[in-house]
Amino acid sequence: MHISFTKEEREFQQEARRFFAEKFPEDIKRKQDSGAVLSKEDYVRWQKIMYAKGWAAINWPTEYGGTGWTPIQMYIFSNEIARANAPDMLPFGVKMVAPIIYTFGSEEQKARFLPDILESNVWWCQGYSEPGSGSDLASLKMRADRDGDSYILNGTKTWTTLAHMADWIFCLVRTSTDVARRQEGISFVLVDMQTPGVTVRPIITIEGEREVNEVHFEDVRIPVNNLVGEEGKGWTYGKVLLQHERTNIAGVARSQNSLKRLKEKAAQTIHGGPALADDQNFARKIAAVEIDLKALEYTQLRTLAAVAVGKAPGPESSILKICGSEIQQELDALFMEAAGYFALPYVPDQYVIDFPEDERIGHGGETNTSLRYFNNRKASIYGGSNEIQKNIIAKHVLGL
Ligand SMILES: Cc1cc2nc3c(=O)[nH]c(=O)nc-3n(C[C@H](O)[C@H](O)[C@H](O)COP(=O)(O)OP(=O)(O)OC[C@H]3O[C@@H](n4cnc5c(N)ncnc54)[C@H](O)[C@@H]3O)c2cc1C
Repeated sequence: MHISFTKEEREFQQEARRFFAEKFPEDIKRKQDSGAVLSKEDYVRWQKIMYAKGWAAINWPTEYGGTGWTPIQMYIFSNEIARANAPDMLPFGVKMVAPIIYTFGSEEQKARFLPDILESNVWWCQGYSEPGSGSDLASLKMRADRDGDSYILNGTKTWTTLAHMADWIFCLVRTSTDVARRQEGISFVLVDMQTPGVTVRPIITIEGEREVNEVHFEDVRIPVNNLVGEEGKGWTYGKVLLQHERTNIAGVARSQNSLKRLKEKAAQTIHGGPALADDQNFARKIAAVEIDLKALEYTQLRTLAAVAVGKAPGPESSILKICGSEIQQELDALFMEAAGYFALPYVPDQYVIDFPEDERIGHGGETNTSLRYFNNRKASIYGGSNEIQKNIIAKHVLGL
């Protein structure tokens, strides 16, 4: 492995650092730093600022409006955006469906969909999982039956992140059951969420937020032109996409940023008392997670070195997904420990004695800690659960 930054790369790092310091809106930063949930308007505003800079699609080729950056530049950018604690572009459009469209889609699809994804005018969601078809995705049952120049869709997608805010959904659907392997006969289609017969129902997650949904399709008619690539080849396209999703989930730079904030929090003292950082047991836990994070960083750099010489990310991305999500969850747990009972959600009506923020003893503003802790239980499930990633490593990396 050989990774060291050139002069140009170091200059680029400075440019990115300046950009985030100057252009990331202060009000969104405050929300983000406190762990609050950002609104759609927040995301769109920030994404349009990145678009204006030409940095909306760091992974796209320049011919479609991407940056055309090298893997090293993308790595530097990811580190800097995490360092500023600014949100990434939402993945569903720019990182997930767009690469499938520009790689396998028709010229008409590229012209129609890519500019609006780039400019954050149109939001997408991902329709893969179904009730009963999550880990065993090839068992999916949602049908797309050909009727002249249309497909008629029937079935249900579940756990669909942000479907209630999305304008379009990309789905894996079954176009044929007359196949030798279940992975055949699956196709990749694009559906306007406003099409008659599409219904979105909320799933409220453990922390009380609406992030995921069930999406029902009842006799939904879409034009055959909304098929991406060849009919029956959706599984191949979908797999390419999942490998990218897993590499993204590693979140090394974000975890490094969290670790820094955790250390700052643990070093605080309350009313002259001892700092948590001086507690040897807590210090040992921080050291353990820091060592794991360093190891993950080097694993990611090894993957990056391979990508830099032209190799596509392979099943090794499963290792990044497992370790990355475990570290994120360990950091969440340590934040909970550092915040103590102040991490409990503050719901004024439910307190017998209501005491205002400035009269409380100890740290304030910790209530998002527990929300983030509970919300992030998802990290070891989505993008393919960690158990499934272990199966992939056993089979494709270790050859067992
Ligand atoms: C917050 C959140 C957001 C999501 N967003 C989306 C989205 O936007 N779009 C989308 O399509 N999907 C999304 N998903 C779905 C996600 O991809 C699935 O939840 C995941 O693939 C697991 O499937 P499942 O929930 O059906 O669990 P199951 O497959 O039923 O698994 C249940 C348990 O059994 C284990 N298990 C299953 N099979 C095996 C095996 N062969 N060997 C060992 N262990 C096994 C699993 O690891 C898990 O612990 C999201 C999920 C969550 C939690």
